[in-house]
Amino acid sequence: MPLPIVRFAPSPTGRIHIGNARTALMNFLFARKNHGRFILRFDDTDVARSSEEYAAGIESDLAWLGIVPNAIVRQSRRFGLYDAAAEKLRAFGRLYPAYETAEELERRRRRQQARGLPPIYDRAALRLTAAERTRLEAEGRRPHWRLKLDPTIVRWDDLVRGESHIDCASLSDPVLVREDGTYLYTLPSVVDDIDLAVTHIIRGEDHVTNTAVQIQLFEALAGHGSAPLFGHHNLLISASGEGLSKRSGALSIAALREEGIEPLAVAACAVLTGTSDSVHPVRSLEELAAELDLQRISRTQAHFDPAELKSLSARTLHQMPFEDVRQRLAAAGIAGEKAEDFWLAVRGNLAALGEVAEWWQVIAGKIVPRIEDVDLLAAARETLPEEPWDEATFARWTVLLKGRVDRKGKALFHPLRLALTGREQGPELAALLPLIGRAKAEARLSGHAV
Ligand code: GLU
Repeated sequence: MPLPIVRFAPSPTGRIHIGNARTALMNFLFARKNHGRFILRFDDTDVARSSEEYAAGIESDLAWLGIVPNAIVRQSRRFGLYDAAAEKLRAFGRLYPAYETAEELERRRRRQQARGLPPIYDRAALRLTAAERTRLEAEGRRPHWRLKLDPTIVRWDDLVRGESHIDCASLSDPVLVREDGTYLYTLPSVVDDIDLAVTHIIRGEDHVTNTAVQIQLFEALAGHGSAPLFGHHNLLISASGEGLSKRSGALSIAALREEGIEPLAVAACAVLTGTSDSVHPVRSLEELAAELDLQRISRTQAHFDPAELKSLSARTLHQMPFEDVRQRLAAAGIAGEKAEDFWLAVRGNLAALGEVAEWWQVIAGKIVPRIEDVDLLAAARETLPEEPWDEATFARWTVLLKGRVDRKGKALFHPLRLALTGREQGPELAALLPLIGRAKAEARLSGHAV
């Protein structure tokens, strides 16, 4: 098998959400796993609605997820190819002009429905004589162009859904070119897939019905057997059962990022939801790629639960090794010889990485201690061991302390925590204490803000 070439093809008419990320990641990870190439294709033939700003936004959303394309193409720069393909189809008699207005088509559909007929385009335009066409054009009508479908059953072995088929006799001849000469999505997509030698088209199952039409186009333009393999994954839907739309801003990748959700958690959630795998934290995209198996995607819709994503994000941090987060910590000013022990001490308490700043302040900065139980704290100062300190120091110290004061359990530990950290809760004191250091600990036990 040649090395796979896949593509993710968003329209830059908005930012991407987690459902789009699912498609992007499935393609990217599939390429990763099989040493293939991943192309980012901007479907921007609708020049009025597409913008460079959205395209740049999508690129940065993908980069944040760890997706760096091998190549980026823009359909708006490739109109020449589409024109040539349309010409070829006309020459083959597969693309024909039709002049009906939207209202005429709608009336015809209603008549068909009233008679119990399926609302399929009746190909009236194919029966127009040259004279009739000339008259319509003289009236100022411009044609749109339809693909003449072969009335055959198109079959493919879907990488996700298995044996699939669509009877093209049950479809209307699709419009490929609008009256104003602009292209709908169908033809440019196939032309690019041929030109870029795409081997696998992995996309949402909302595109299943396009597949038969596109396979006919591949065959017409590039010959029998030229169509790539197709895999249609289930779509993520919200808890209330609605699809995720581009405009449901809260689930945009940008919003999740803003909220402090970990990119690896977004990736694991986007890829594993709605498969026979559990949604679990991963250490890297490589690990997720190794686990990707299109056949394990379920046939039913995949319920996306924001609370599950949040918890996954926290669990992703809890198991993250220091090497993987070193740079991000350094960017937040957390570096130096204490940085690794600090990370290991606090990671298990984080809901979001941003919270490290507060804990770094506790060990490296100044806090206001909270003083409860003055007697206990006085004894605690007196029993404070000499340095060097390590993770065992806290246990040694509190054993000594128990011999001096009649306190145990929460009555012993809570006042120490309040004085040493100024907070009700947090990471294990045993891990924090050596990071705070003796001088600071002693001062805080005396109530000094240091
Ligand atoms: N621009 C199309 C979409 O976003 C691409 C579909 C495809 O992958 O073929 O739905």
